[in-house]
Amino acid sequence: MRVTVFGTGYVGLVTGTCLAEVGHNVVCVDVDAEKIAGLEAGRIPIYEPGLEPMVLANHAAGRLQFSTDAAASIGHGEILFIAVGTPPDEDGSADLQYVLQVARTIGRHLERPAIVVNKSTVPVGTADKVRAAIDEELAARGAGIAVDVVSNPEFLKEGAAVNDCMRPDRIVIGSRSPHAVERMKRLYAPFNRNHERVVVMDERSAELTKYAANAMLATKISFMNEMANIAERVGADIEMVRHGIGSDPRIGYHFIYPGAGYGGSCFPKDVQALERIARQNDYQARILAAVESVNDAQKGKLFEMASRHFGGQLAGRTFAVWGLSFKPNTDDMREAPSRVLLQQLWAAGAKVRAHDPEAMAEARRIFGERDDLVLCDSPDAALEGADALVLVTEWKAFASPDFPRLAATLRERVVIDGRNFYDPASVEESGLAYYGIGRGRSL
Ligand code: NAD
Repeated sequence: MRVTVFGTGYVGLVTGTCLAEVGHNVVCVDVDAEKIAGLEAGRIPIYEPGLEPMVLANHAAGRLQFSTDAAASIGHGEILFIAVGTPPDEDGSADLQYVLQVARTIGRHLERPAIVVNKSTVPVGTADKVRAAIDEELAARGAGIAVDVVSNPEFLKEGAAVNDCMRPDRIVIGSRSPHAVERMKRLYAPFNRNHERVVVMDERSAELTKYAANAMLATKISFMNEMANIAERVGADIEMVRHGIGSDPRIGYHFIYPGAGYGGSCFPKDVQALERIARQNDYQARILAAVESVNDAQKGKLFEMASRHFGGQLAGRTFAVWGLSFKPNTDDMREAPSRVLLQQLWAAGAKVRAHDPEAMAEARRIFGERDDLVLCDSPDAALEGADALVLVTEWKAFASPDFPRLAATLRERVVIDGRNFYDPASVEESGLAYYGIGRGRSL
């Protein structure tokens, strides 16, 4: 099938590439000319495992093209995806300007019937707004073209996006049009072979499904962080508690890791946006408000531990920081806990030597040149001259450090483990002080 994808970010580029991989003919459009020129030249703008070879192969095979020409790209697709950003507005609501811009562009240039599919995460009721924006443009030029608008939220995880897209847990199709549902099922048939993954529902339910999924996941994280905060006050180890509760199949082991707070481009903004949606509909979402406030506090946890250890005297200290991306296997630093830690350390007069396997360019872009930050080429280089190590992101590259060497290198022999990645006993046996999240010894 002929497909056009608006937006070549994490969602648009991965979706377009996976659709091309199974044989569809895809054009990816972006307003960012530099990004498109880079893609044309084989440069992938994001780090996502497995993405690069797939983009290159499909581009070479002619099934995946890149363009800044919206009008021509609209002419290409019988299915037009909207996968542009929906960043938070000033009040936390999702900013729909990019989604509606694409909708108007489609209305202005569409010459034949099409299915417009919204993949961006959007407030309930956006499918109606997209339809209205397209209709308005069609009416303005007297064009009577049939357009179906489908809500098809995306559930991929950064760091595993290609795999999630190729092997989705479920494919939510929000549409009340039998024709649109039939075409969408055909589009996704290659991803739906061994068992039924398609869940068909109305547009509004599909839109809410995405927010509900992210809110549930964020709730699990904040809940565990709250338990960790209790654990450390009563002398319990949250890691034992985690195993203890995860063994109940109603709870399960997935996604119940305490840590330095959730970040990324989705959970923070989606929890906030859902809270605003509730408020606009005369409901106060108390759980969501609590999830958010626990997370905000948790992002200050690593600094708090550092500050306590050094009796509030951080000026002139140097901290090695391992991991800057908001989670492993991505270069994305949007809302990353590392950013809060770095700002707090700098405000207290400390210096940072940081390493991340993939987010160094992004860190350079965000922070620029500054005297109190050295971006190091390796985990070891970050330790040189540092007083303490803070592990913020649990990349595999940081999984098994040589603790005796760490003890010999770190001036103050302190390890702050923001992900409970290390075994406290092994760290302490090497003569290092260990602080974890909710492990009865963090205060
Ligand atoms: P992103 O910021 O990485 O990419 C968005 C892209 O859209 C940018 O390249 C931008 O230049 C482009 N764009 C903006 N306006 C455009 C226009 N008028 N025409 C063409 N392109 C345009 O965003 P993302 O992370 O891919 O997220 C996109 C949407 O998907 C968001 O609503 C997000 O909430 C949702 N989502 C993201 C993830 C994720 O893990 N990143 C997962 C599921 C859903």
